[in-house]
Parts: sequence; structure tokens; C-alpha cells
Amino acid sequence: MTTTLTGPVLVLLDHASTGALRTTVLELLTIARGLGTVHGAWVGAAGTPAAAGPDDATLALLGEHGAEAVHVVDLGPADARLSPVVAEGLTALAAGTGASALLLTSSFENKEVAARVGLAARAGVVVDASGAGVDDQGRVVAAKTVFAGTWNTRCAIRTDLGVVALKANSVQAVPADAATVPAIARLSVAVTEAAGRTSIVEHTERVASDRPALGEAQVVVVGGRGTNGDFSAVEELADVLGGAVGATRVATDEGWIAHDAQIGQTGVTIAPKLYIGAGVSGAVHHRGGMQSSGTIVAVNSDPESPIFEIADYGIVGDLFTVLPQTAAELRRLQG
Ligand SMILES: Cc1cc2nc3c(=O)[nH]c(=O)nc-3n(C[C@H](O)[C@H](O)[C@H](O)COP(=O)(O)OP(=O)(O)OC[C@H]3O[C@@H](n4cnc5c(N)ncnc54)[C@H](O)[C@@H]3O)c2cc1C
Repeated sequence: MTTTLTGPVLVLLDHASTGALRTTVLELLTIARGLGTVHGAWVGAAGTPAAAGPDDATLALLGEHGAEAVHVVDLGPADARLSPVVAEGLTALAAGTGASALLLTSSFENKEVAARVGLAARAGVVVDASGAGVDDQGRVVAAKTVFAGTWNTRCAIRTDLGVVALKANSVQAVPADAATVPAIARLSVAVTEAAGRTSIVEHTERVASDRPALGEAQVVVVGGRGTNGDFSAVEELADVLGGAVGATRVATDEGWIAHDAQIGQTGVTIAPKLYIGAGVSGAVHHRGGMQSSGTIVAVNSDPESPIFEIADYGIVGDLFTVLPQTAAELRRLQG
């Protein structure tokens, strides 16, 4: 990994409708700085406060993390909540800037965007990556764990543009050695009729929660069938640790918690610094979505449970005893 890319490295600047940056963007910028010249791609949905672009404070934050330019993509009346629409905007931007790489956070929506950009731009795509660099031939190389976290792979992208969707928490966000003042550039893209064939007919805002988003959280406390539907101990520990609450498929199928909390092969892939599984057996379909977590702690009443095979710390016990005791002790230590 000795060279840098010739064209800019575009980073999709995911943000809330208020314009507040998602925390993962700073992680992407940290990775992007190691690849070449960093440019942000801002796709603001029409009708939101963020449509015109980032505000001054956000721009300064982007500069602190090394963005040399921010491209505000104007998609006209097209609905920028739709993946095909965003993909057309980014494809046009990548072509217009001669970008060598596009980095996105590996969310469900962005993985679809990545695939569509890859198809439209004939670009190599790696999703759910845990790192990205440049090899001595000037190619984007993405790191990725596969087969439920049992293999570490490196994938060299051989096309002029490399599209990489990176999992949250892949690196710690670090400001650049020297801050930049990003130049603002605006690009209007006429979205095709095909991209607008899907429309959003109903939209419900998620109930505001103080907890971090599951895919971005550094700490995730997960409840399984062992909770028997009572997630209060899981939620209490998550709150003491400032973490998110996750669940196994069994727990979501039973309706004990919303489906978007499901972690695993058919749910969200997470890689928090700390994963705590309570009443979770560690079935292979679940492990596929959490095995690359930094430290894995398991609380299970069955010492033979498979999750202990991958746990860094295992506690054999009843979660309704262990979790409240842990939360109480942490509260005491926090003062
Ligand atoms: C195609 C397919 C896709 C799937 N995708 C997913 C997926 O994305 N995510 C996912 O999670 N699963 C998925 N599954 C289901 C998966 O195979 C398992 O069935 C599921 O993960 C098990 O959930 P669990 O650990 O909560 O329950 P169980 O396997 O029933 O384990 C419950 C555990 O709780 C322990 N326990 C019980 N009471 C207590 C207590 N009081 N205190 C402490 N421990 C206790 C038990 O000892 C046991 O180990 C998928 C399955 C298929 C076929």
C-alpha cells in the first residue's frame, strides 16, 4: 500500500434531514485520506433543511477531517431518499470529477446505491468492507471478512473507479494533521424517468431515541430467546453503556422488538467495539452478523452454548441476574 489514487476519493456524506452528519462519515474520511485527495458528495433531499448543502459548522468539520472539496448534488425534484436516484447522482459526479474511488457507509440503502453505481459506471464494488487502501499498482484494495468472520480477505478492484461500502466502526475517526477549507462545487443532475419509477407512498419517522443507531454504535447489547420477551435488562445495560439494543431473529419474529433490531445473516451486520449477547445461543446465522465485533461478551445459562466458542468473555448465568448487577456496578463506577 504505497501509492495514492490519481483521481479524487469521493465520500458519500450521509446526513439526517436536519443536515447533521452521521458519525460514520468521519470514519470514511479518515480512511479516504489514506487513499488520495478527499472530496465529499452531498446529496440533500429536496424540501429538507439540508437541500442546499452543509452548513458552515458541518463544512468546518469536514475540513478538519481532510475534505478538500464538497460537491452538492442537485437532483431537482427527484426524491433523494430513493437509492436509484442517489445512484444516478453519484454516477454522474464520479464521471464528472474523474473519481478513482467512492466510499460509502455499508447500510442497506447504501449497498444498493453501491451496486447501482457499480453497474452504471462499470466499476468494481465491495460491500461490508472493514478497510480500504491502495496497492503498489494504484488499485483500490478493500479488506473484508467472509464466511461468518472466519476468513480475512483483500480484494483488489481492477476498474478505474472502485466503489467500497465500509462497515461502521471499521476505524476510529481521526482529524487530519492539517485542516482544509473545502471548496463547494454544485452539480445538477437530471435524473432519468427510470430512476423515479419507485415512489415513497408513506414515511414514518423513527421515534426519537437517545440510543445510537444500531449500525453505528460502538457498544451493542443484544437480547435473544433467553429474554423470554422481557428486554428491560438488555435496555438498561445498553443505556448505562451508551449503546444500542440489538436482537436475534427469534426475538424479532416473536414481536418482542422491532425487526430493524435484528442482527445476523438476514439482519443488520454490526462490528461494534463491544458486543454483549444475553440469552443468545450463537447460531451460525446470528454469528455472521456480529462475529467481527471487537470484544464479544456472552451471558448464557447454558455452559455448552456455542456462543462461548467465539466469546472473549463468557458469563454462565441467568441474564436477569447478571445484567442488572453489571448495570448497577457500572453506575456505581460512573459515580
Ligand atoms: C435462513 C436463515 C436466516 C437466519 N437469519 C438469522 C439472523 O439474521 N439473525 C439471527 O439471530 N438468527 C437468524 N436465523 C435464526 C438462527 O438460526 C437462530 O435460530 C437464532 O439466531 C437463535 O436465536 P436465539 O439465540 O435468540 O435463540 P436460541 O438459539 O433458542 O438460544 C437461546 C439461548 O438463551 C439461553 N437462555 C435461556 N434462558 C436464559 C436466561 N434466563 N439467561 C441466560 N441465558 C438464557 C439458552 O441457553 C440458549 O442458549 C436464521 C435462520 C435461517 C434458517
